[in-house]
Amino acid sequence: MARDSRYDVLFEPVKIGPVTARNRFYQAPHCNGMGRTFPSSMAAMRGVKAEGGWAVVSTEQIDIHPSSDFTPATECRLWSDRDIPYLARMCDAVHEHGALASAELVHNGKWAGNLYSREVPLFPSHMPVPTHNFPLQARAMNKADIRAYRRWHLDAVKRAKKAGFDIICCYAAHNLSLAGMFMLPRYNFRSDEYGGSLENRVRLFREIIEDTKEAVGDTMGVVVRFAVDELRGADGIEAHKEGREIIEMLAELPDLWDVNVAEWHNDSMTSRFADEGYQEHFIEFVKQVTTKPVVAVGRYTTPDRMVSLVNRGVVDMIGAARPSIADPFLPKKIEEGRIEDIRECIGCNICVAWDNMIAPMRCTQNPTKSEEWRRGWHPERIAPRAVDGMLLVVGAGPAGLEAALAAGRRGHDVILADAAAELGGRVTRESRLPGLAAWARVRDYRTYQISQMANVEVYKSSLLDADQILEFGAAHVAIATGARWRRDGYGRQHQFPIAGTDGDNLLTPDDIMAGTSPRGSVLVYDDDHYYMGSVIAEQLVADGCQVTLVTPDARVASWTDYSLEQHRIQTRLLELGVDIVTSHELQEITDDSAAVSCVYSGKSRLLAVSSVVMVTSRLPDDSLYQELAATPDRLRAAGIETFKPIGDCHGPATIAAAVYEGHRFARELGEPVDEIPFRREITELAPGFELP
Ligand code: ADP
Ligand code: SF4
Repeated sequence: MARDSRYDVLFEPVKIGPVTARNRFYQAPHCNGMGRTFPSSMAAMRGVKAEGGWAVVSTEQIDIHPSSDFTPATECRLWSDRDIPYLARMCDAVHEHGALASAELVHNGKWAGNLYSREVPLFPSHMPVPTHNFPLQARAMNKADIRAYRRWHLDAVKRAKKAGFDIICCYAAHNLSLAGMFMLPRYNFRSDEYGGSLENRVRLFREIIEDTKEAVGDTMGVVVRFAVDELRGADGIEAHKEGREIIEMLAELPDLWDVNVAEWHNDSMTSRFADEGYQEHFIEFVKQVTTKPVVAVGRYTTPDRMVSLVNRGVVDMIGAARPSIADPFLPKKIEEGRIEDIRECIGCNICVAWDNMIAPMRCTQNPTKSEEWRRGWHPERIAPRAVDGMLLVVGAGPAGLEAALAAGRRGHDVILADAAAELGGRVTRESRLPGLAAWARVRDYRTYQISQMANVEVYKSSLLDADQILEFGAAHVAIATGARWRRDGYGRQHQFPIAGTDGDNLLTPDDIMAGTSPRGSVLVYDDDHYYMGSVIAEQLVADGCQVTLVTPDARVASWTDYSLEQHRIQTRLLELGVDIVTSHELQEITDDSAAVSCVYSGKSRLLAVSSVVMVTSRLPDDSLYQELAATPDRLRAAGIETFKPIGDCHGPATIAAAVYEGHRFARELGEPVDEIPFRREITELAPGFELP
């Protein structure tokens, strides 16, 4: 299909100093939980993005010295020449597909707890290390430290060049970089030429950029990544004050400005709290104060929006981390006029969460993410089917939809049946809850793709029973019938049913999503700790209820720390007037009250509530699977060779896990699968081993 000419502007080359980006698509640096620990997985993940058309493919943070040791995080590292080979592997993978490789060099200052290196952390002034909330302090750097820091950065620049990078990114964003920390009055209490006036506070960053330009500026592009606003008002950098002044001071120094907002939880806001393009009004001034090209992120997935940004002179390149994770082929699809094929990021931050849990990142939309090398899964290619026979997928939630799509792409004839009148399962239900509308993209991408395939037939409003499944004539059957929220309160806190959960005033999120609307005072009991308790509370407030949220944890939705949402969620609930009771467990429910007790003291109190919504854990909806699995003879007689549960029916988890399970089912259908179904990279032992 030919590309619409209005998108042509996105495919113009952009000069970044001495190197040229082939188009305007810039994969901004992003963590991925692989880095130096799973280096080949990291390299292949980046290479696939280059293949997908990104002109610049950046690393995650590369820490440059043992005094910036971010252990246990698994970022990249460039402390010595021994760190070069795995980064060279990434550069090779990126170059193989004609993109430029960019290295983001970082010293984490006070954030680096140096748990492995045991160096004393470094900072502009004395300061407690916030990373682990334990009694460790960073010390104020003296002049010799500053000289050393400049040398470490320069050494890392030279090593990055040796590794094959085309671009160096000098970093002062997210409040994660030492040079950036020097700029902030709340951190910098120095009286020398590196403290006091703005010019002094910016001096170190300027020196880092100048050192880099001088060393490699004739052969490598030098990018400056800078957060123009910290979203903390006068306590921090503001775009219309020092943010602008800093850019004015350094305006022509870099070859490209990569601008955003700090900290990471502001830069990577979820779709629950921010729409596409939410950073635009913070960064729109930048092009007025520099002649150098500008790149910015904002979870851009819509090509028209991208064109508008360029045509209005807001940016020269479209930055993307999450959209490039959800669809590494986003640029290629625009280039080839295949807009409908874009797998749009839903802004859920599962990718971020897995990195924060120090595990290879997962993506709700892209099940191949982090599986590129270890399983050989390509986001756009899949092997032709290895076995014959029709596939029946029962249930069209995220697991069933993805299984049907991926198996269809392998060339299977597929029938996808769902009891509901609408496809999408939990995604359809949950996307109607406050703030989760973008999650429907998980359904919409897949239903559109399936609608284009002649070999996948969809049956809505088709509740199947065991006999019907046996009569279908399918050789392969995937049961993707999902899960239901428990009513009895069983969860992390309670391993016995809570008293009173058999009453009529006990509801679950499934009831609320099905349209049940309680009246009066409602208690939401959240022992799930992810999003559901808080979105149900929001929904109930919108329905006119007085809501009390009780959780055994010390904070609401504590797991959402990982997805960078916790603070916003608790703030929103408080703003909505939700009464929040933390560190309390639910003991008993009666018709008009609920007894809750402190998890520390055991002291109980009675809350006057007319209903309780139980958000604790889920049970698989697997009766159909269990019934048929119990009679293998019947399956055999019906000609069914493959019979598997997938998704929430197999093990209730995230939507990302359901999509992955559906994809895995299709990939493995008819294939030999080893007990360890992926390649592993095992650290090479050091030569020589002596006891001290
Ligand atoms: P997952 O997250 O694993 O994909 P969901 O709960 O989102 O699971 O989706 C399960 C889907 O399965 C729902 O849309 C539901 O209507 C459907 N379903 C459940 N039981 C049956 C059945 N017996 N026949 C057909 N569809 C079913
Ligand atoms: Fe987007 Fe969610 Fe995928 Fe991250 S995990 S890239 S936020 S869809």
